[in-house]
Amino acid sequence: MNIILLGPPGAGKGTQAQRLVERHGMKQLSTGDMLRAAVKAGTPVGLQAKAVMDAGELVSDEIVSALIGDELDALGEGQGAIFDGYPRTAAQAESLDAILKGRGRTLDRVIELDVDEDALVARITGRFTCASCGKGYHDTFEQPKVAGTCDKCGGHEFKRRPDDNEATVRTRMAEYRAKTAPILPIYDARGIVSRVDGMGEMDDVTAAIEAALAG
Ligand code: AMP
Repeated sequence: MNIILLGPPGAGKGTQAQRLVERHGMKQLSTGDMLRAAVKAGTPVGLQAKAVMDAGELVSDEIVSALIGDELDALGEGQGAIFDGYPRTAAQAESLDAILKGRGRTLDRVIELDVDEDALVARITGRFTCASCGKGYHDTFEQPKVAGTCDKCGGHEFKRRPDDNEATVRTRMAEYRAKTAPILPIYDARGIVSRVDGMGEMDDVTAAIEAALAG
């Protein structure tokens, strides 16, 4: 199966993608993660993307589509892909169709995580992750069980994304509304969109996604 998780920043796409990876052995293809890795490594793509990402704007369609193509090539033949944070524009949606077709894959389902934008700002500005294993936490909703120690790997270092501040988050939301939400009708017309309430408990959201994939 190849699926897209679609929703504004902070909707829980990354968390839900990780759960699908654990349960189904699919591969999470997050263009945001790929770009952050490129920034960290100081590659030409990273150098180009950094300022754009810090401002909460969108990196060029060519760059992200090339990243996705390369990652898909590295997948096992029967391994499914979860697109997380891609496509984000109509041009990227078109590229994805071509990229999948060229590799004999089809897009099976688009899960739209339906969320309340104001609640998202609180969700995003409080989030942090373990620097070693990437497990996600939140200042208000999910602190590590032992303060300063990661529940999953025992690590002691945590990090926050530089673009998780309120001003940048508002720009990222505006980008989503203006450029990403309009691609939904493309997939709606194909009858492959499932809308899932993304504001519930994480386990309930996961169950709703599983039901959508099974149906
Ligand atoms: P994310 O981790 O998905 O929230 O992405 C973080 C930032 O990376 C975004 O605010 C954009 O600047 C950039 N980015 C990630 N994915 C894309 C994409 N598909 N198209 C353009 N820019 C992207």
